[in-house]
Formats: sequence, structure tokens, C-alpha cells
Amino acid sequence: MKKASLVGVAGLIHQSGFGQLVNDPEEMAYVIENGSVFIDRTFKSVTVGITQDGRFKVSDGPLKGQVYIDATDKIVSPGFIDILADNSSNPESTYEIFEQYKVSDGVTTALQLHGGHHKAASYYRSFSKKSHYINWGVSTKVMNIRRNQKSIDSRLKTIEKNLAYGALAISHSIEYQPTPYSELLEYGKLAYKYQRPLFLHLRYSSKNKELEGVREAIRLAKDTSCAIHIDHLNSTGGTFNMEAALDLIRNARSQGLKITTCVYPYSYWATYLHSKRFGPGWKERYGLTYSDLTVVGSGERLSQARFNELRQKSGVLVAVPEGTQPLSTTSDLAIKEDFCLIGSDGGIERAARANNHPRGAGCFAKAIRHFQDVGIPLEDILYKITEAPTKLLRPAMMRRGKIKDGFLADLVIFDKDKIQDKASVANPNQFSQGIDYVFVNGEIACKNQHLKFKNGRQIKIQAARVE
Ligand SMILES: [Zn+2]
Repeated sequence: MKKASLVGVAGLIHQSGFGQLVNDPEEMAYVIENGSVFIDRTFKSVTVGITQDGRFKVSDGPLKGQVYIDATDKIVSPGFIDILADNSSNPESTYEIFEQYKVSDGVTTALQLHGGHHKAASYYRSFSKKSHYINWGVSTKVMNIRRNQKSIDSRLKTIEKNLAYGALAISHSIEYQPTPYSELLEYGKLAYKYQRPLFLHLRYSSKNKELEGVREAIRLAKDTSCAIHIDHLNSTGGTFNMEAALDLIRNARSQGLKITTCVYPYSYWATYLHSKRFGPGWKERYGLTYSDLTVVGSGERLSQARFNELRQKSGVLVAVPEGTQPLSTTSDLAIKEDFCLIGSDGGIERAARANNHPRGAGCFAKAIRHFQDVGIPLEDILYKITEAPTKLLRPAMMRRGKIKDGFLADLVIFDKDKIQDKASVANPNQFSQGIDYVFVNGEIACKNQHLKFKNGRQIKIQAARVE
């Protein structure tokens, strides 16, 4: 539901002295006072207004408004942007649940840039007709396109069509679908041509080979000049050799290559049993055995027989034990780098105890909690989940990600000491705590764990013509 239809005319106008109804453009729809407002990577004591058309107005003094919110002792931040939201398996029937868990975690924009959609153009057309709690957007998903189309030419044509329509990025997962480097080069060239980033789940995740995957991504950035984003470096590329992986990226960036990465603040990964990650040799690769695997959402521990049985089915997600990828040697190191952002790599897809990693519901509250606890300044954490992602995705995310006059009012008000994820492997379906308000495009989408209005918009690049 849109704000105007809900708040109604009475919310937009007020009574003048002569008894006439007039619109006062100076009157804010909302005024947020007394908070610590995150502006230009620091906290300021200013008043934040939200105009009647859903944009920010920042003031050193008081503002006139219809609704006043007292944010004493609270942080007032731009809304969080999840660049690695994942809801690609059956979005038509799950997007509403997915969005509820995102918005309750402070996410105002969820972008599916790891998986995305193979028919991004029609995805945009059909999803823009639905109401959304949050802003949303997708990349063009190479994996499914490769599955459906045999020739490289036809694959490239489909990808190009999606990009021309406005898809935000090209995404591919080379570990799940090994792809020759010569073909990757074509995707990189297309990414460069359309000036969209290429999001890569790297080729290797084992101790001995993961750095080869990082080197391959760097080589691709060098050969095509495209911007490359390495998905979740903590679980693929830098799990065992994070310092070395960061060194490689640092060095590549110092040569002018456009490489970024992201992590999630969890010490365990989860993926589908039918995937290549659980192909022959998985126990040796990860140093794990059957009983180390837990089915997410039910808490069931696997035996060898049950592993074999469930591996035949598609879509059973299992988690490895906590501490498999210790935060102190993975995400906590990467997060210190400016080129490392935060992405959930998750999404909740079912109303009751979903078979999804808890990061789909708690990633951002947990990131703020955990990274503060290990000494990362809150200013740095917030920058990574607000302004930094917009730089990667210009021009689609222009006028978002900052509290600045005229910018779209995506906003989160939270308590930095109380913010906390609740989602667990046994029950991922739990809203995060300590978040008072989430505004999307100027309207309240979630208040104290209660869902409110659907005011999300599509995020895409303006349509371009395919040559
Ligand atoms: Zn991945």
C-alpha cells in the first residue's frame, strides 16, 4: 500500500486560519529529533525531517512536522542495503515472507546480486506490479541461462537483454557450475560494456585451492577492465587464507583494478546438499563428517544414510557447525578493509521454520552487534551497509544510502547497545531486536518488530537499447 492511500488526504494537509485546507510544503510528514544521526561517516546532532514526498530534510534547528519521533540515545542511520540477498529459488511465492525478514532486520533495499534471475527483464515487469515492504532489484543469473542455452552466443544475447532492460549486475557461481575461463571473459566484457559489476562466487573453497579462485577473479578484472565483486570471501576464497586473499585484492586494487568483496558475520556456512560443495571428497575438503551437518529449520543431525537420502532431493539446506570458519580469522579480518562490504547471502522463504540460513533474518543486526563487539567503529560498519553499496551500483542507487537533503528517505532508528539478531539454525524465523523504526521511501515499514506499510520500489538501471 502506498503512503498517500493510507495516510490519506488528512495526513497531507492542515487547517489554515481561515478554515481552508492548504498544503504546507514546509511541514514534514515525520520529524526525528534528538538522535545521533549518521552523516558523512560520523554522528551529528541534527533534526531529520521526512518530507511529504518521502525525502530527507536535514536541519540544525527544529522542523515543523505532523508526527514527531524522539530518538534520544538512538542511532539514526540510512537504511541498510543488502547486496547479497538471496531469494532466487521461487521468488513468486516467497518474496513477501522474504521481505518481512529483511525489513525487520533494518534492510530497506534487498538486491539479489549473487543469484538474481535468468529472466531479469520479465522479473522486473511482474514484480513491479506487486506491493513491496522494501526496495528490490536483481542481477542477471548466468547459471540458469547456461543450463537453458547451449551456445555461448545465445547465452550472451539473453544476458545482454537483461542488462539492457536494467538488471543491476551479472552474477555467476563458478564453483557450482564450473565454466571455462574463455567463457568468463565474455561475461566480463559484457559487464564492462554495460558498466555493471560482475558478481562472482569463486571457483574453489578448499584450503589448498581457494586462493587460485581469488587470482582468477583478479585476472578477469585485468583482462576485461570490468568491476568484480567477490561474493562472501569468508566462505569462498578466504576461509583458510584470509590474510593472503586480502593481500591479493589490496595489491590488485593498487594497480587500479576494480575489485570489491563482502562477508557475512557468521562462523558457519550453509548450502544445498545436492550442490557440488558436497561432491566426492567433501569430508576431506572441509574436515567434516556426516554428523557435523544440521538441516536448517529442523535441527536434524545427519547420518551417512540420511545424507545419501537427502542428497538425492533438491533444495535441502544444511549448515556446518559453528566455528567452521572462525570469525576471528575470516570476517573480522576482512571487515577492516574499505573494499569489504557486508552481504547476507541469505533470505527466509517460508513462514514457519524455514530451511534457510539464519543470516537471511539476522545478518544486519548481527553485523552491527558482532563487529562492534570486536572493536570495529560503528561508523565503519554503517558505512559498509549504507553508502558504500550505492557506490558499487551507480547510477541505480543514486540518491539513496545517505541522510542528505533530497535523498530518498530509507532510514533505520536503532539502539546500538540493544541491537541483536535472534535467528538460529534450529529456528531462523525470528525478527532481530533493538530496531525501533524502519522507513522505506519515507513511510514506516516496520516499527518495533511490527510490520507496517509497503512502500518499496524497484531498483534498476534506466533501460538502454541493445545494439
Ligand atoms: Zn555463494
